Amino acid sequence: MSSTPTTFDVRADFPILSQTVHGTPLVYLDSGATSQKPQVVLDAEVDFLTRANSAVHRGAHTLAGEATELFEDARATVSGFLGARPEQLVWTSGATFALNLVAYAIGNATAGRGPSRFALAPGDEIVVTETEHHANLIPWQELAARTGAVLRSIPVRDDGTLDTDAAASLIGERTRVVAFTHVSNVLGIVNPVAELVALARTAGALTVLDACQSAPHLPFDFDALGVDLAAFSGHKMLGPYGVGGLLGRSDVLDDLPPFLTGGSMVTTVTLDEAHFLAAPQKFEAGTQPVSQAIGLAAAARYLEGLGMDAVHDRERTLERRMMAGLREIEGVRILGDASGVERVGIASFDVEGVHAHDVGQFLDDRGVAVRVGHHCAKPLHARFGLTASVRASTSVFTTDDEIDVFLDALAGVRPFFGVGA
Ligand code: PMP
Repeated sequence: MSSTPTTFDVRADFPILSQTVHGTPLVYLDSGATSQKPQVVLDAEVDFLTRANSAVHRGAHTLAGEATELFEDARATVSGFLGARPEQLVWTSGATFALNLVAYAIGNATAGRGPSRFALAPGDEIVVTETEHHANLIPWQELAARTGAVLRSIPVRDDGTLDTDAAASLIGERTRVVAFTHVSNVLGIVNPVAELVALARTAGALTVLDACQSAPHLPFDFDALGVDLAAFSGHKMLGPYGVGGLLGRSDVLDDLPPFLTGGSMVTTVTLDEAHFLAAPQKFEAGTQPVSQAIGLAAAARYLEGLGMDAVHDRERTLERRMMAGLREIEGVRILGDASGVERVGIASFDVEGVHAHDVGQFLDDRGVAVRVGHHCAKPLHARFGLTASVRASTSVFTTDDEIDVFLDALAGVRPFFGVGA
């Protein structure tokens, strides 16, 4: 095994990174919100739109055939990249859509429009975690409200790890769905998927994984993870906006009723009724995100070219440098400062005595782009007694020097605002 740390010489692949902000080189540490896109992704979309743009699965003309082939090739590339088969990937506009799709499909089954194996009865339980992004929380709150199911949540410990003892007592015979994030978009900590899947399986519950913050950063193998469904987001994994997906075990996708209905998802339609295509088309009503899917396939090939083991390795180096530096700065409190846990390059923190927005502004003035606010995880912030934090997040293009520029700038925040010693 090589002891040389992985570095990637990829800066030139990301044209946006060469700019200056307020006269200083841009240090982009907001990939948790959206990653930058390499030129190959931009080219793939433009090339499709200039050469082959056409509606897929519809026309008999040449361009339509070519577009359909490229679109389905993209499905094969992206599903393969994520450890699934093409028919196990449903294109959506993003993870929010994918998670809502599942919740609404279960709602439809509950209303008698699907198999009873997915139907919820009053008193049945949906289990989430305290670390969820709102996209993997509110759809379940809404489903519970519509069905009479009860929403329960696995608490997080002070160090940011999930309380697995509590999980073991919360997941029980009334549990029908366990929906949880693979990696918290605030803490960057990798959750114990195998443990939660084992508990859910024993209870006979469906597992839904939010893979938004894991798929871009570590080798992601849907099949090996053993979850029933997983949602991911294209724009966070070097791909375009407006595309993401839902991965599903074939038996689950085959049985789950559709959420949206309309064109492109039917076999026969009369004025009285419709019959649906098999998955994944059953879930893809309307015009598909064609150029976006093709762009995302280019992103998957790009990441595959770097090697996801190497990407993960690189992220760990960046994450350790960032965490070590943050721990050194007086007045900085890291949310979820557990040591010895698996993480990706995401860290959120509070600067004592300075509002997160002021920290963000101060850093931006020095060219450093971070996210401030609640990062769509209000309950988790409340758990740590905060309404807002600052989040720095890395990607394959982040350099060690950029981490140092960020840490140096951050060290100047409290002195600048006259807080602390
Ligand atoms: N879940 C997590 C953990 C996220 O970080 C995000 C994006 N902030 C989402 C869900 C929503 O993803 P999308 O933008 O694709 O809807």
